[in-house]
Amino acid sequence: MIRRCRRAAFNAPLALAAIAAAACAGIPEPPAAPPEPEPPQLEPLRFFERWPDPPAPQPLAPHLRWEPSSLSEGTFAIITVLPDGRGLPIFEAAARADDRPIPLYRMPGGSFFGLVAAPLNAEKLSVDLSFRLFDGTLLSRTLSLHVSPRRFTVTQLRVATRFTQPDPTSLERIQLEQALVRATLRKMSTTPLWHGAFLRPLEGAVTSPYGQRRMFNDELRSRHTGLDIGGDTGDLVRASNAGRIVISRDLYFNGNAVFIDHGLGLFTGYFHLSAREVAEGQWVEKGQIVGRVGATGRVTGPHLHWGLYLQGASLDPSALLEPDFTRLSLDLPPQPATLLLKD
Ligand SMILES: [Zn+2]
Repeated sequence: MIRRCRRAAFNAPLALAAIAAAACAGIPEPPAAPPEPEPPQLEPLRFFERWPDPPAPQPLAPHLRWEPSSLSEGTFAIITVLPDGRGLPIFEAAARADDRPIPLYRMPGGSFFGLVAAPLNAEKLSVDLSFRLFDGTLLSRTLSLHVSPRRFTVTQLRVATRFTQPDPTSLERIQLEQALVRATLRKMSTTPLWHGAFLRPLEGAVTSPYGQRRMFNDELRSRHTGLDIGGDTGDLVRASNAGRIVISRDLYFNGNAVFIDHGLGLFTGYFHLSAREVAEGQWVEKGQIVGRVGATGRVTGPHLHWGLYLQGASLDPSALLEPDFTRLSLDLPPQPATLLLKD
């Protein structure tokens, strides 16, 4: 309405304009809109100008960490390679221990870890590490770890003479089986196949510890390269963790035996079973039944022999239940399901 009044005042002759002006004078003007506030003056450039450019990442040597801090024979070390926060990321990393290749696995944050065996009678571990950074810089470092000796008990055992004096046919069989097991345990996948913490495969007391010095029938000296857990024939034996069954067969000394590949050179073994419930090539989940307690092979009675193997060395399976390794296992990202289906 106001606009129409103003248009009339502009176009009409003076007389009419006076009337229009008089008519318009009676209509109150609406209150003027308050002035819009001034937009805030943002000066992002000035803010950033005060900060210097961050320094370009330098080819800095990665940090090395090992756990446990004091290592003892028959266990293993976890070696972790961490990129320097101010430096370039690590493109690739490789390791060797006593000339054995050690697979290193890349974690989501760009760090790497690998497991290094400290076999029975080892006094030190020498680990050669090499790295390539993202700019191509090559770096290397040797890690020397002291291995503490352990005290082991001694025991006398009586077994059938075929286990202390095998006939030529059995000797041939034994050699073939040992070659098969050695070759199997040397194959190392570069990815962990296990999920979370390891578990004991059978409830029950330890009846014979790892590393025990043994004398069979007063004539054969041997070392106990696993952990014996007491149980009754038929008790269920479970996979300590996820992995792939690489051996499931009747072996001369081990009896009905199952070996699981957990990746990164780590294997577990389950011996003297009365029955095997898995086949070679099969994938198993943690806790899955792999067999039943028995007394097959070189034994004095029913029990489970639980073994741990890393880079071909027989280690103490208790090391799998240590807090450092449990923490690492819980931090591992879940493996894609496709990996488990691939063969
Ligand atoms: Zn045993």
